[in-house]
Amino acid sequence: MRLRVNPIACTGHGQCAELLPERVTMDEWGYPLISAEPVPAGLEGLARRAVADCPKLALLADSEEKGSEEKGSEEKGSEETQRSRRAGH
Ligand code: SF4
Repeated sequence: MRLRVNPIACTGHGQCAELLPERVTMDEWGYPLISAEPVPAGLEGLARRAVADCPKLALLADSEEKGSEEKGSEEKGSEETQRSRRAGH
């Protein structure tokens, strides 16, 4: 799991940094800086809570397995497109 923030929706409440200081710090204006490092399994519960508790729904969690599945299906689709192009000349 990796965290990211929607900078347009975020209003800088700072709740996320309080819940998960291991992955979220605040910049000088009070907006969150999210670590690019994946959230370790031991912190996933807190990370999910930070996502759920964000008052602006601006904190998002990306599941890494889901991302690789989507990428795989995109690649498959692209192969099929190339095959049908070759077949049709
Ligand atoms: S809790 Fe939500 S709105 Fe507040 S700083 Fe974090 S991401 Fe932004």
